[in-house]
Amino acid sequence: MARLLFLAAAIWTSAISAAPVEILPTPKKLELGKGDLTLAKCCVVTAAEAADAAQLLGERLRARIVGQAVPGCVAVTLRLDPHASFAAGLNRDQRPEAYRLTIRPGGVELVALQPEGLLRAAASLLQLLRSEAGVKRLPCLAITDWPNFRYRAASDWLVNVEVNRWAYDWGDGPQKYLARVKRKLDFCFLYKINQVWFDGLGWNVDRFPGYAAMMRECTRYARQRGIKLTFAGYGGGYGTSYQQSDIYRCGYFGQTFFNRRPYPHGPQYSCRGMGRLEVSRAYGTCLSNEGLARAKLAELKRFVAEVEPGFLYLHDIDTGDFVSSQAGWRMRCEECRRRWPSDDIDSPQGQAGAMASWYAQIRDALQPITTAGAYQARRDLTLILISPLYTAYYEKVPPDVWRRELDYFCAMSRLMGPSRNVEFGLRELFYAPGGGKKIPGLRAALDAVGNGHAPLVISFGGGDNYYSDDLLNFSGAMAHFFQGAESVCLSNGGLHEEPVQVLNAELLWSGAAQGYREEPPDEQAARDLWTRLEKGRCRPAAVFGPGRLLERICRRLWGDAAGAEMYRAYTAGGESGDGPVSRVWYSVTGDVRRLQAAALPKGMRWENLHDRWLRRLASTQEALGHARRAAGLTSDEDVAWFARCLEVGRRFGEVMVVATGLRVRPDQAERSSLLKALNDLEMYLRAEFRLEKTDLLGGDPGCWLETIEHLRE
Ligand SMILES: [Zn+2]
Repeated sequence: MARLLFLAAAIWTSAISAAPVEILPTPKKLELGKGDLTLAKCCVVTAAEAADAAQLLGERLRARIVGQAVPGCVAVTLRLDPHASFAAGLNRDQRPEAYRLTIRPGGVELVALQPEGLLRAAASLLQLLRSEAGVKRLPCLAITDWPNFRYRAASDWLVNVEVNRWAYDWGDGPQKYLARVKRKLDFCFLYKINQVWFDGLGWNVDRFPGYAAMMRECTRYARQRGIKLTFAGYGGGYGTSYQQSDIYRCGYFGQTFFNRRPYPHGPQYSCRGMGRLEVSRAYGTCLSNEGLARAKLAELKRFVAEVEPGFLYLHDIDTGDFVSSQAGWRMRCEECRRRWPSDDIDSPQGQAGAMASWYAQIRDALQPITTAGAYQARRDLTLILISPLYTAYYEKVPPDVWRRELDYFCAMSRLMGPSRNVEFGLRELFYAPGGGKKIPGLRAALDAVGNGHAPLVISFGGGDNYYSDDLLNFSGAMAHFFQGAESVCLSNGGLHEEPVQVLNAELLWSGAAQGYREEPPDEQAARDLWTRLEKGRCRPAAVFGPGRLLERICRRLWGDAAGAEMYRAYTAGGESGDGPVSRVWYSVTGDVRRLQAAALPKGMRWENLHDRWLRRLASTQEALGHARRAAGLTSDEDVAWFARCLEVGRRFGEVMVVATGLRVRPDQAERSSLLKALNDLEMYLRAEFRLEKTDLLGGDPGCWLETIEHLRE
């Protein structure tokens, strides 16, 4: 199933210094030279258009930025060359970040086609920088490099899938939050992560006082580093306003629009919707209502102008597969039927025509926006258009479903007309029925249409707090199936998951984990493996074993001693799928919901859940021991927070063992001890943590006390 692509690619050792040269993500080509370059006194030499990269390098190297080389000063030269020969043959997704970095005894040269390429070259240079006795050194070498995917969302900083709950809101207030986000964006810059799942769901600039200004500070900081932050919300549908599900129970943050004609004071009416939910048909789903469209566009325009987002993820009614999307379209109102008479979703007179017309209105309203912060939406904003119809790998009907889905996306692309920075969102997909892989096939079909649109894959493969809370999710090992996507979003890599973010960055930039990737031979094997990856039951020794990539990432992030302990903390529980509990959201709240419902889903038994909590508690205790030792070895705040959250997870774990045990065998004495344990836990949390919410939900700590309340019930 797995294959080592190029064994020797892992580490290059410099012959002179004997120090290992390991850049992550792994560059496409690296030729090691002889000797080192000493940067006693250096200058960053550049022309104006390389400003961001030059400024970042100037700060980190403590070097002056000059227009021309200065005698006696080692030159670190940044140069843009749109016709550089090393990039001949690269495609449109690879070119913007392609670069060549050359370090010779006489100086350093960074060359790229576009300014973003210089940022990536600068990140490689900073990874190579060594300081010995106050002297900065670089190994002599030449790197030629480019990414496999244009946008690599290795980081999902929302705890609750792609929906909400800020991972870096740690209950210590807005200033600490903002400082932490900037530190994390520097981390993304260093590992060439250029798309972050950042906020959702909703477009309300007044969500809390200071929201828009805070978000703008984040998007600008990100933009200087060539990183785009993703903000998610609804274009129509507003499912989180009314859908009953634990992930949606916090409601929608933006304005909820309704179908009213005339808009906004006429009576409410039904149009498109979700099959079994009649109520869904009233929630801003009508595409022929011009007043509704104008109001919605005004909300979006204000959001873009005030927040300066990198990506807008525009969700509509939550019908993902072909059949339910078609059914939703057939529910449209009389006016929509008059305008788009076809019941077929892939017809220009059907849903494709209607959605394309709406999407084009959104694009045309938002792209002209510019701000005083030098933001140009046409250049800096990418629209992600997702649903109705975002596909699922397990769809079976109609028999030619993939052909019909290809036709739908191509029809929409054709009807929208030429425009860059527009992506169609799909879920993870593997092999096509007629051979080959689905996503590359879709990209080829869209390229043949020629309007510049491309797919985005949002991949839920565990570690997403939807399918699992795996802390070391490796589903990115199948990201090469999505080649041809302009963006790949791996929906893990958030709270306590910095090692996964680096691993994801490697998988999305180079297509493998230092040569290792999962290559199931056929569709069934792909699905079986995906299920194992999702649950954290596939951790190949070639990547996760002692001394291999994961451990080296931990050592790189936190130093040798603390990193080794952190590696052991993360790998506690092994491939059992019953790893440590470091977050309350989903890990605990998911099962609390089951306790509240008092009945388990079919096929599940309280005994099994009880046993699982015993195993998870054991993993948590093991991880906690290592994390505490790590916290004694480094002052890194991530390590300290991980240890503190594992302690919270351990205490909740003990409570869950008792609570699930009571379902197996009711016992009055045990019940009293559970209530006492909950009181103790509440006192502990109130004494040890600040629990101040920055965002409305207050990150993971925001659900701690409320979860205790639910357990008391
Ligand atoms: Zn309608």
